[in-house]
Amino acid sequence: RNLKRHMECRRDIGTLNFRFLSIYESLIPEEEEKAKQKQLLTLLEKLVSKEWPKAQLFLYGSCANSFGVSKSDIDVCLAINDADIDKSEFLLKLADILQSDNLQNVQALTRARVPIVKLKDPVTGISCDICINNVLAVVNTKLLRDYAQIDVRLRQLAFIVKHWAKSRGVNETYQGTLSSYAYVLMCIHFLQQRKPAILPCLQGMETTYSVTVDDIQCAFFDQVERLRHFGSHNKESIAQLVWAFFNYWAYHHDYANDVISIRTGSIISKREKDWTRRKGNDRHLICIEDPFETSHDLGRVVDKFSIKVLREEFERAAYIMQYDPDPCVALFEPY
Ligand code: ATP
Ligand code: MG
Repeated sequence: RNLKRHMECRRDIGTLNFRFLSIYESLIPEEEEKAKQKQLLTLLEKLVSKEWPKAQLFLYGSCANSFGVSKSDIDVCLAINDADIDKSEFLLKLADILQSDNLQNVQALTRARVPIVKLKDPVTGISCDICINNVLAVVNTKLLRDYAQIDVRLRQLAFIVKHWAKSRGVNETYQGTLSSYAYVLMCIHFLQQRKPAILPCLQGMETTYSVTVDDIQCAFFDQVERLRHFGSHNKESIAQLVWAFFNYWAYHHDYANDVISIRTGSIISKREKDWTRRKGNDRHLICIEDPFETSHDLGRVVDKFSIKVLREEFERAAYIMQYDPDPCVALFEPY
């Protein structure tokens, strides 16, 4: 009811929607860019299969989950069915092969948390990270992509939130703020919670897709073309949702007790997950459960300094959405 009252006060709601939708449209990658990404993937497949005929390449991350804005790098996973490969050795060899085929800036980062080879393709101008056997990321990419097909408002909201996070400097995991993946999970959870719900909980429905990866069973309903009308009882517009999203994270989320979980489509308690106190470097100051690796809190990168930064940014955004006559300027103001 508050939301409704608020939105009645904002007589410019139509203009605001129009502004958000034009920002969203301007961030969508052109078809030409998608074609170039495919072209680079085909080249990589050719080079890799010469050396490892059984290896497969998968796109993952924002170039494949439909939450990628234009000019993003691409993330590639090389899947090879060989239990005892030494990842570092493999990556060094891969880097060698790619280097000798005129790819630029080839670098093997063997000590990173997720070891990768980085490169840039001079023909398409696209940069790319290749990791080995990170199949869970390929599966969570599919889950996100499937959610995006149910209701267009998810993609709209996530583009706006990611754009805000990048502009405001709160999309930097190495500085203790959240990854793009975490922000998309926050958007999915938020739309599952609207009344009436805009998104269902795919992992709570009949299983139509199931794979087991690293002993984790990943099962969910993936016939999303059957869910196209799921959110149609909810008429909220993108401007209302952006306002309510920031309002939730600024004033209504219970940081002390709650974990958001798209796996269950609900809030679960920190106590239940044993995430109530600091363990090693994991402080659990904002808790976002990974849909498959359920012991994994995407908020674990957040420390006692960066949680303050994050919450102040949520409050700032909520304030702007409430009072600013032209919120789209201040919201995305570089920090
Ligand atoms: P951007 O547009 O910022 O590049 P992105 O969707 O590629 O966004 P990243 O946060 O770079 O987002 O993550 C890339 C992919 O890696 C995600 O889509 C997800 O599949 C996987 N991933 C990233 N972080 C995690 C994590 N902490 N746990 C599990 N999977 C993750
Ligand atoms: Mg990425």
